Amino acid sequence: ENAARRDVLTGLPNALAFHEFCDRALARCAEYGEQAAVLYLDLDGFKPVNDRYGHAAGDEILVQVAQRLEETIRKTDFVARLGGDEFAVALADVGGPVQIMSFVDRLSRAFSTPFSAAGLPQDIGLSIGVALAPSDGLDTNTLVVKADNALYQAKTAGGGTSRFFDPKHAQIVQERRDLEADLRAAIDRNELEVALQPIVEIATGRIIGCEALARWRHPVRGSISPDEFIPMAERTGLIHELGMWIVRAACRVAAHMPADAPISVNVSVAQLRSATMTADMLAVIQEYGLTPDRIEIEITESLLITRDDPAIETARELSKAGFPIALDDFGTGYASLNYLRKLPLNRVKIDKEFTRDSVTHADCAAIVISVVQLARTLGLDVTAEGVETQEQLDFLRSIGCGAAQGYLISRPVSEADLPALFARKTEQHLAA
Ligand code: C2E
Ligand code: CA
Ligand code: CA
Repeated sequence: ENAARRDVLTGLPNALAFHEFCDRALARCAEYGEQAAVLYLDLDGFKPVNDRYGHAAGDEILVQVAQRLEETIRKTDFVARLGGDEFAVALADVGGPVQIMSFVDRLSRAFSTPFSAAGLPQDIGLSIGVALAPSDGLDTNTLVVKADNALYQAKTAGGGTSRFFDPKHAQIVQERRDLEADLRAAIDRNELEVALQPIVEIATGRIIGCEALARWRHPVRGSISPDEFIPMAERTGLIHELGMWIVRAACRVAAHMPADAPISVNVSVAQLRSATMTADMLAVIQEYGLTPDRIEIEITESLLITRDDPAIETARELSKAGFPIALDDFGTGYASLNYLRKLPLNRVKIDKEFTRDSVTHADCAAIVISVVQLARTLGLDVTAEGVETQEQLDFLRSIGCGAAQGYLISRPVSEADLPALFARKTEQHLAA
């Protein structure tokens, strides 16, 4: 067979060969009333292996995936590597959805034993999108686009699952994909902004730091919340670029701020799983002539889930390199107390829900009091987030909470407005 129709790494047919096969199979569908299916496959857990252990390890996985796929399909079916970690299967003359589901089950079973890369077992899952001929269309491009759309739905459902193309959802799926493409472009075109929110020492009102928060003003949709675009960036791997973009912005700001007011950045666990994270961070701060103590790293506890997550090792590296580490959203995630032991922390941030309810719910007040005491015992600083009322601030002061952040003190402001905040007397809210 023609080398132009093979993927060099895995030896599988490539996209061109896949399209040719589909064209023939679909012609038979039209002629004899057969059914066929196009399955679009994407690997779950491939990016982390590639990021952590390098491309050679990624290649090892791809070769093994190709083998398992070839062993799973029937002679009359066709499997191809489309590129990256995307594969496709065409099922010719397939009975219907029931047969397709049993094929999907076989595929999932084939992936249930771990793969091996970098000398370690690696769990890799499959997300699958399915389009059917003739019901979803009779030409290859239409089916591939629809299978890809269904795949996206499987991915956003959390992966490890399959979806049939569903015209009811196709439009929403397409909009989300467009938004992802827009986010990629926004990063490239420098259309993101950073907002900064001061953190004050409760006893003195002095600004002891600022948190850098990502902002995206979409040219058509207006401003999009980080709660929406950060998860999107995590899903697509854009978080690495976005994350470093924020770190640069934070360094630019920190360079003009007092040395005792570090800028905090939120770091996703996906970023911490990257093998180059510490080196990347050090390179950026050096570029700006800063020392690591000027950039604090906030890690969201709710995202650290596994026990011996490589993220924990990276957090230790960053701490050793001199970056202060804060545990964000404390109390909302899993195994909080365990992370207090495992992570090299300097600070915990009490989640805004606890701050809010501390003055109305006695049980919540008790939790906040205990967290402040616990932190003191462990030698950690504490910031209460989301402080909106004088009453909340007074309560926090009365229990000895060290620092506060929230609308009462200041909303997040633009880079340009930050110097004025430093000049302003924040004590006005803070007088006991
Ligand atoms: P977070 O780290 O908990 O950030 C604090 C959020 O609370 C911010 O929302 C902030 O604007 C908001 N906030 C501050 N003071 C108050 C208050 O008094 N009351 C209330 N109700 N809210 C307050 P924002 O900017 O929408 O960010 C949402 C989340 O998105 C952040 O939560 C953080 O987890 C994530 N995020 C933002 N920027 C980045 C980033 O650059 N990288 C990553 N990985 N995540 C980010
Ligand atoms: Ca934060
Ligand atoms: Ca938080």
